Amino acid sequence: MKVCPRCGAERELEEFARDASKASGFKSFCKACDNEKSRRYYEANRERKLAKMAERREALRGGDHRGRRRFGRPRSGPHAAART
Ligand SMILES: [Zn+2]
Repeated sequence: MKVCPRCGAERELEEFARDASKASGFKSFCKACDNEKSRRYYEANRERKLAKMAERREALRGGDHRGRRRFGRPRSGPHAAART
C-alpha cells in the first residue's frame, strides 16, 4: 500500500502509474490524481496557447505586415499566352 500525498488516500500500488524515472518505480500521485493533474496542465497550457495565438493575430492585424498580401494574379502563364 502507498499513500497518495495529494488526496491522502491509501491505495494499492497498482493504483499508481509506473514511472521508471522514480526511485520507487511508481509515480508519487495515484492515477486519479495524476489524471487530474495532467488534465489541468493541459487545459492551462491550451489557454496559454490560445492567448498567445490571439496576441499574434492582433499583432498581424496591427499593420506590421501590410505588404505581405498573397501573391497577385499571375501576369504571364499559359492562359495569358493563349489569349493572344
Ligand atoms: Zn491521489
